[in-house]
Formats: sequence, structure tokens, C-alpha cells
Amino acid sequence: LYDDFYVKSLIRTVEDWPKPGISFRDITPIFSDPKGMRMVVDAYVHRYIDSDISHIACIDARGFLIASVLAYELRKPLILVRKKGKLPGKTISQSYALEYGEAELEIQEGSVHEGAQVLLFDDLIATGGTLFAAMSLLKQQGANIKEVAAIIDLPDLGGSQKIQASETPVFALCAYE
Ligand code: 5GP
Repeated sequence: LYDDFYVKSLIRTVEDWPKPGISFRDITPIFSDPKGMRMVVDAYVHRYIDSDISHIACIDARGFLIASVLAYELRKPLILVRKKGKLPGKTISQSYALEYGEAELEIQEGSVHEGAQVLLFDDLIATGGTLFAAMSLLKQQGANIKEVAAIIDLPDLGGSQKIQASETPVFALCAYE
């Protein structure tokens, strides 16, 4: 059973990282705790086992870690949304704003078909910029985003609210106000 207190005990807050003024939520301890890892993965398995998602897409790199186990367990194809320059072959890319500057995400052309029902996964939702860029790439290929899932939501930064306002459901295991 999912235990919010237990999972939060495995999320470490690192002050002033990677920049002064940022409280970084470090999820690395979840991966080094087999009970916590299983609890987190099982929460998503339980939520999506009877859903009609056809694909799981996940964002470079922490998103990969949970989503790949989930794809294995649910027997769904896994789509990698990667940082610029990592994927071979023909790709489509989408740039997006970071707090300072810009970044770019890519998927391989043809990685998802028209009408696919995609669950999009990342570790954390802050401003939502990363997820919006990934959603745009998947939608450009004709996919429907069934739901966006994350471990952590930071509601004060407004990302999850913006995604929900764009008619895409959002599911986060826990939140930090
Ligand atoms: P956004 O684009 O929503 O502003 O930022 C979310 C992205 O930045 C995610 O891909 C996430 O991995 C990363 N990120 C931003 N802040 C944090 C944080 O405090 N902890 C973790 N684990 N990732 C973060």
C-alpha cells in the first residue's frame, strides 16, 4: 500500500542546489531503497493496470527509471523523450524555456502512431515547461496524452495547474507546497 510518509522520508531536500535559492528535491534515496522503489512503482501499476493507455513515454533521465519498470510490468511500449543530440536517426525536437536560458527535447520520428493513448511520465513537475515540450512532441506525432504522471508536484510553481487547464489529467504521488 502507498505510504506518503514513507515515500517522503526517501525524498531529500538539498538547499541551494543546483543554484542558490533552489530547494532541490532529491529522489535518489527512493532508488536505493527497494521497499520504497516497489511502493512507488506499485502505486502507478495499481493506477494504470486497467486503463486503456497504449504507450508510456518518459523524460530524460530520472523519468526513465520508474517508467521503464512500469512499462515492463504493464507490458507497454516505452518511448524515450531525450535531451538534444542523444537519439540517432530522424528526430523531431522542441525547445522550451528554462529558468535561465533554453533547452531542447527530442523523440525519434515514428516512435508513436496516430491515435496512441500515451501516459507521459517524469519525476517532478515544477513550471511544467519540460512536460509541455514533451507533450508537444507526442501530439505532433498524432498521440493523445491520456495522463501526465510524476512522483512529485510543486503546485506553487503552477505547472500541474497549467497542464490540467490544457485538458490533460495530472497525477502526482506527492506534493511539496
Ligand atoms: P519544469 O520544466 O516543470 O520547470 O521542471 C521539471 C523538470 O526539471 C523535470 O524534468 C525534473 O527532473 C527537473 N527538476 C526541477 N526541479 C527539480 C527538483 O527539485 N528535483 C528533481 N528531482 N527534479 C527537478
